[in-house]
Amino acid sequence: MIRYSLICDAGHSFESWFRDSAGFEKQAADGRVSCPFCDSTKIARDVMAPNVAKQRDDSARDLRMKLRELHDKVIAHTEDVGDRFPEEARAMEDGDSERRAIRGHATFEEAKALLEEGIEILPIPELPSDGN
Ligand SMILES: [Zn+2]
Repeated sequence: MIRYSLICDAGHSFESWFRDSAGFEKQAADGRVSCPFCDSTKIARDVMAPNVAKQRDDSARDLRMKLRELHDKVIAHTEDVGDRFPEEARAMEDGDSERRAIRGHATFEEAKALLEEGIEILPIPELPSDGN
């Protein structure tokens, strides 16, 4: 079986399966291939066009993979302090705690306060949902 992209004389494009290329030629010559939209039997094989939508999907997937890599790297090299993040960040800044890479949760207000105190924090990129 072979799948062809076809186009009728009215410009409708559609796909159809044939036994082989000779099967398509014969059926088309006999007027047995018709457009599903307008029933025209003046059918030609469509020119294969690059699938733009697919390329867009691929670049989105690449971006997701890069984001996931970055995300995993951050997770792998930081200590999770959970909700203690703001106080740990302050403790490190004040020298009460060993300086190290930490991650955790902070509310918007807490994050804002830390930044205002001159403590550098960075948001970890959220992973877009990709079905997992
Ligand atoms: Zn048509």
